[in-house]
Amino acid sequence: MSETCQYCAIDERVLRLMVPVCELPHTRVYLYRENTFPGRCVVVWKEHVRKLTELTPQQRRDLMDDVGLVADTVTELYHPDKLNYLILGDESPHFHVHVVPKYKGTPQWGKMFEMMPEPSQFMASEEEYAAAAERLRTALLKKQGN
Ligand SMILES: [Zn+2]
Repeated sequence: MSETCQYCAIDERVLRLMVPVCELPHTRVYLYRENTFPGRCVVVWKEHVRKLTELTPQQRRDLMDDVGLVADTVTELYHPDKLNYLILGDESPHFHVHVVPKYKGTPQWGKMFEMMPEPSQFMASEEEYAAAAERLRTALLKKQGN
């Protein structure tokens, strides 16, 4: 835990960018507010670690279990043509993975996706975000139980 880390504090720095979905065994899952890639999620390791190399071999497998669960769920709900997985962290001290659904025929197909594409797209209301997060949460927790 780092008091200045946005992913530990889960404060407005995180909440203005994403909506909490649920906790999985080893990670917290968020729905990204920028909606150019519907279903885009961020999977955040629960403990404050900076990078993959700080995880033990078992923790790396645990991470991929959670990322895989998110991938299955986003695929089931959003039917992307491909999922992109991105680990950057240049400016973040807390390890996380972007799970980004890509769709054929869209401008970003076949390219590295932009973190904050222009023009940005957002849902119309907080109610829409809440409904999308709830749909993901229900499906994720159901899959987790399987
Ligand atoms: Zn942190």
